[in-house]
Amino acid sequence: MNARSNSGRLQVADAPLARQRSTPSGKPPLWRRPAAFAMTQTRNITSHLFDSWKHVSKRVRAAIDIRIFLDFDGTLVRYYDRPEDVKLSSKCRRILEKLSRHRRVHLAIVSGRRNAALRKYVRVPHMKLLGLFGWEKRGRTALPRKTKVALRRLRSALAPMPESFLGIHVENKGISLAVHFRGTSPETQRSVRTRIRGLLKRIRCPFRVIQSNHACEIVPRQVEGKGVAMREFTRGLRKPFLPIYVGDDLTDEPAFLALRRGITVRVGPVSRTNARFRLRNPEEVCAFLERLEDELS
Ligand SMILES: [Mg+2]
Repeated sequence: MNARSNSGRLQVADAPLARQRSTPSGKPPLWRRPAAFAMTQTRNITSHLFDSWKHVSKRVRAAIDIRIFLDFDGTLVRYYDRPEDVKLSSKCRRILEKLSRHRRVHLAIVSGRRNAALRKYVRVPHMKLLGLFGWEKRGRTALPRKTKVALRRLRSALAPMPESFLGIHVENKGISLAVHFRGTSPETQRSVRTRIRGLLKRIRCPFRVIQSNHACEIVPRQVEGKGVAMREFTRGLRKPFLPIYVGDDLTDEPAFLALRRGITVRVGPVSRTNARFRLRNPEEVCAFLERLEDELS
């Protein structure tokens, strides 16, 4: 995955609209390269969250309004070859339920999945669901007719792709499409991305591509990614509040940047990220939520 520029900066597909390039005709480009936007802040080294617990604990105890945003796949649950096989552990659900009842805490899931799917797997009362990279806040799902027509064409064009590339899977998310390539070779992934780029150019769809660790997410232009969603969502909140954001994916990087004044945590191996802290895996995320709950009790 081409996620870095020549200067070594981490790059993401989720960029402020003002920074999107235009075509010579003045219209926005049909395809934006994965590396279309260099972040202004990157970190090479993050400390393990538990090594900095004293600092985290102090901020949590002092906060009067704590906004916890959690990614789902790879953060609360491990990845599965088939996304529909995923299961939230009962321990994690129990801790989330306890946190959701706390008067100072507001919980939300921010995921590339649709709200309907998240509802099925999460089942935690009072937990806000911000599906499709945060776009489904307030339950919005309406799209212009032109986009719906283009989506049908795109769906037909992508349908034969698994026959050409062994191991890839096209997921129909209703108003978007995800091409999953977990477990395939880097060469296959490069070829898939090239094929998608060509396809979008050819059929002139009003869509954008959001690159995640293991998939190409083809979404309507209205879906601007988790960074924009976080900025929009927190803009309306009464200050002061303490944001906590936990995610594992390239798609979470813009959100780390948007909430950089809060506690940001990248899940997974040590990697270049905009998050301030790291945790190794979903089990450690669960342990973190438990510690958080202890601090608030
Ligand atoms: Mg994830």
